[in-house]
Amino acid sequence: TLEAGVVAVQGDVEEHAAAIERAARSRGREVTVHEIRESGIVPDCDLLAMPGGESTTISRLLREEGIASEIRDHVEAGKPVLATCAGLIVASSDARDDRVDELGLLDVSVERNAFGRQKDSFEAPLEVTGLEGGDGDGDGDGDGNGNGDERPFPAVFIRAPAIDDVTGDVTVLATWEDRPVAVKQGPVVGTAFHPELTPDSRIHGLAFFENEAATVPEEGALEAETGA
Ligand code: GLN
Repeated sequence: TLEAGVVAVQGDVEEHAAAIERAARSRGREVTVHEIRESGIVPDCDLLAMPGGESTTISRLLREEGIASEIRDHVEAGKPVLATCAGLIVASSDARDDRVDELGLLDVSVERNAFGRQKDSFEAPLEVTGLEGGDGDGDGDGDGNGNGDERPFPAVFIRAPAIDDVTGDVTVLATWEDRPVAVKQGPVVGTAFHPELTPDSRIHGLAFFENEAATVPEEGALEAETGA
């Protein structure tokens, strides 16, 4: 059984837990999800999600609780992290805001709330590098059910950051309006959007099961197919 951790000091925790469970299930893997509010749990986790929320609050609580250094050790050990929205801001090396205590897991600088007031919240169809692979049935949709669609990822942005500067060995996986919104560096994947808010768990699959094909159809995909 895989031990998964979702940073739960603040932010949307349940949705990440559910997405991790879907991604694991579609690969025939068992997973136990732990909510992380205190130190001592991260060292037992095989993979970690850092949700959205308020980056200034999250980074302060992570430091105060002694969780920040455990997350750095987790990445140093080569274990995967998916950091989304405020999680990405906290995982960055520069949030251009003194109130954010960055973990420096990704060599990127970010601009908070970069997509402006008018577009506080929006959904965009994103082409994401890497989602076409690891599918098992070769159709590129990540569900392993062979129905042949290569859907863009339905990316939900909520007061989202943009990634400004990318250095080191950071790979840009997706851009929106010419700005990077998904990146990968070593075992860390960061997204400006919220992959946990749609039934599509391909981003969680990419972050946590990169080399493991989905062999069991995801529930949502199955329903779409049968018209249930
Ligand atoms: N705007 C928030 C911040 O800067 C992030 C928003 C989110 O996680 N949905 O912390």
